[in-house]
Amino acid sequence: MSSLLRIALQKSGRLSEDSYQLFKECGIRFDYGTGKLKSISSNFPAEFLFLRDDDIPGYVEDGVADLGIVGENVAVEMGRNVKTIHKLGFSKCRLSIAILRGTEWTGVQSLEGKNIATSYPNLLGNYLAGEGVKAHIHEISGSVEIAPSIGLAEAVCDIVSSGSTLLSNGLKEVETIFRSEAILITHTELDADKQALADKLLFRIKSVQAAKNNKYIVLNAPNHALERITSLLPGMKSPTVTPLATEGWSSVHSVLNENEFWENIEAIRAAGAEGILVIPIEKMIY
Ligand code: ATP
Ligand code: MG
Repeated sequence: MSSLLRIALQKSGRLSEDSYQLFKECGIRFDYGTGKLKSISSNFPAEFLFLRDDDIPGYVEDGVADLGIVGENVAVEMGRNVKTIHKLGFSKCRLSIAILRGTEWTGVQSLEGKNIATSYPNLLGNYLAGEGVKAHIHEISGSVEIAPSIGLAEAVCDIVSSGSTLLSNGLKEVETIFRSEAILITHTELDADKQALADKLLFRIKSVQAAKNNKYIVLNAPNHALERITSLLPGMKSPTVTPLATEGWSSVHSVLNENEFWENIEAIRAAGAEGILVIPIEKMIY
């Protein structure tokens, strides 16, 4: 029997756009939007479920969904029995403690005996326990930032993005307790058919990510500098070197990791390379 891999995605929110984009880049097509709650892909054996992000870890644990994309903050907070199979590199954010501006802060010990409002009682509780601090955690589900100004708590622990929400509520960020990004989670025991599909998907995701993290580079090099330049461009196996029509010059093609890009590009120029083209890569298969 052919099976469908069921994949839970956030319906609409800070994970949605990048999640949809990721599947698009993996060549997996499906319809979404305008109130749709599920959708079967037209070219990959998968069914997509569109949910609130908070519900995704539970659905995956129960096996209603085989895979899901969720923020690491939510997955860890909920402590469901699911497996993280891959970090996806988007929806990056941090969970931080903030206090009223003008309040003294001498480190996390300043929270001893204080009231802290948060939607992340487990993450915060574990952090405080690790620091040996005893405080009162007030769990609230939203608008956490107003808690200090209405006298509910002296501090908050919440997701911080630009910090403008903190600012407009008279708060200052004092400690980051967790850094998060979107992750792909799975049920702990997929059957063999679904595991094979999940592996196929993961292979595509890794190829898309590798492509994003690398650039294709083409340049002209004087032959006397070839050794130096190719040593700076290891490529996937080794760079391609072909002679130019101009005597004494070669064309060099290679792949360069984004992280090494700026450092190496300067050394490559200094070694005598000219006409350097840097081209995005669409897919990269190892
Ligand atoms: P839902 O309606 O699905 O319950 P939500 O309001 O709980 O959505 P969002 O605000 O869409 O959640 O955030 C979803 C996830 O995106 C968060 O759990 C976090 O991992 C990440 N996230 C939150 N804020 C930001 C931000 N400013 N920038 C990037 N990622 C963020
Ligand atoms: Mg939510």
